[in-house]
Amino acid sequence: MTQPVAVVGGGLAGSELALQLAGRGVPVDLFEMRPAVATPAHGTDLLAELVCSNSLKSDDAETASGLLKRELRLLGCRLLEAAERCRVPAGHALAVDRTLFARAVTDLVEAEPLVRLAREERRDLDLPPVAAVATGPLTSPALSSALALHFGEEHLHFYDAISISVGAEALDPEAGYWASRYGKGGDDYWNIPIDRERYRALAAFLREAPVIEKRGFEDTRCFERCLPVEVIAARGEDALRFGPLKPKGLADPRTGREPHAVLQLRRETRDGSLMGLVGFQTRLARDAQRELLSVLPGFREAAVLRWGAVHRNTFLDAPRLLDAAQMSRRRSGLFFAGQIAGVEGYMESIAHGAVAAVNIERFLRGRESLLFPPETLLGALQRHCAEGGSPYQPMNVNFGLLPPLSARRLERKRLYVERSLDALKGFLATRDCGLNA
Ligand SMILES: Cc1cc2nc3c(=O)[nH]c(=O)nc-3n(C[C@H](O)[C@H](O)[C@H](O)COP(=O)(O)OP(=O)(O)OC[C@H]3O[C@@H](n4cnc5c(N)ncnc54)[C@H](O)[C@@H]3O)c2cc1C
Repeated sequence: MTQPVAVVGGGLAGSELALQLAGRGVPVDLFEMRPAVATPAHGTDLLAELVCSNSLKSDDAETASGLLKRELRLLGCRLLEAAERCRVPAGHALAVDRTLFARAVTDLVEAEPLVRLAREERRDLDLPPVAAVATGPLTSPALSSALALHFGEEHLHFYDAISISVGAEALDPEAGYWASRYGKGGDDYWNIPIDRERYRALAAFLREAPVIEKRGFEDTRCFERCLPVEVIAARGEDALRFGPLKPKGLADPRTGREPHAVLQLRRETRDGSLMGLVGFQTRLARDAQRELLSVLPGFREAAVLRWGAVHRNTFLDAPRLLDAAQMSRRRSGLFFAGQIAGVEGYMESIAHGAVAAVNIERFLRGRESLLFPPETLLGALQRHCAEGGSPYQPMNVNFGLLPPLSARRLERKRLYVERSLDALKGFLATRDCGLNA
């Protein structure tokens, strides 16, 4: 019999991965450190515990979250089936009773004859020849140190400082100009000039605005290169102008002069519907973030689609460290899945576990790894992790990750969904994903 694959971490990605491998006839040793070693956010000893919201997001057919669920159903996702059995009423969202769900997944794993569940912390990478690490954003400190040694400290992010993102329709088209600094590259940034008076008001606002209270386990230590804007503002009147609001090389073509300060926005999705405020990570309270957009020039409405935040999140610089099959470029047979491997969110982590199982099983059989079609969100997640820019930013699924479709807005979402499910059905029918092992 094959030596069991070691899966480290019995969270969302690790539990799905273990069950999927077992479903393909592969024996697994699944290591989960709780309850012997706690994390700062988990409260039970159950596998697949949801640490915060109980929502696995929308199941509406015309949303990206809904499409991901449809793709996962085609792949026989075990945790999604469990979630459906534990759902609570929540409109279009698939929300679950957290404890019932975690209990259901634990039962599935414990009942699986090919999975041996070991309640043990793995503190290093001294693992069998084929192994997967799925230890999530709260990976234990000992294992984090081992990962830093394996990959180099600079490739492991410990805190995630999230910048504010807005819907493109929130931007006033008269208030800025497209350009890149010193004209290098394409005109990829939307630049909003800020005059001296507005700048002063903004700096004063940031110094005074309320920030979100720290939770006990959250350390506010952040990388110097991604400090929250309110921390920068507190360092001095001009600190923002020498930081994220630097105007150098960004002359306004309408006046020919460099403004006092410039706020830059960059596309976060291929269709440009989501725009991120560059370098504007913040832990301001939500009301204050809303108000911030009224202090800044250039926003017609406060359509915040992603709130700024700072929280502990251990993840790898996936595009530089892992190949598209989620395997370490430095050690053949060592795979990664879930949030540690550069995805963001509950469903995305489950999906990443399911996709990893396909390629681990193929690896065991000496087959080439598979990339899911680019028209699917499963394929888009693989590609984002393999090709994302630097510094790497984990992403929730969204339609902007898919190749663009030219159709009217209302029709577009339906077409994305149809195209993806057709592509996935064709792919599963013609590629050996080990589903019938
Ligand atoms: C405070 C907080 C709030 C969040 N809120 C949300 C939210 O509302 N919605 C959302 O979609 N996402 C949220 N996330 C992100 C969420 O954690 C992930 O999306 C998801 O849980 C990641 O799945 P995972 O399997 O990668 O990690 P996890 O589900 O965290 O699983 C990792 C498992 O590995 C175990 N482990 C860690 N180190 C070791 C070790 N050395 N040896 C053995 N076992 C180990 C852990 O105990 C854990 O069970 C939140 C994250 C945090 C930190």
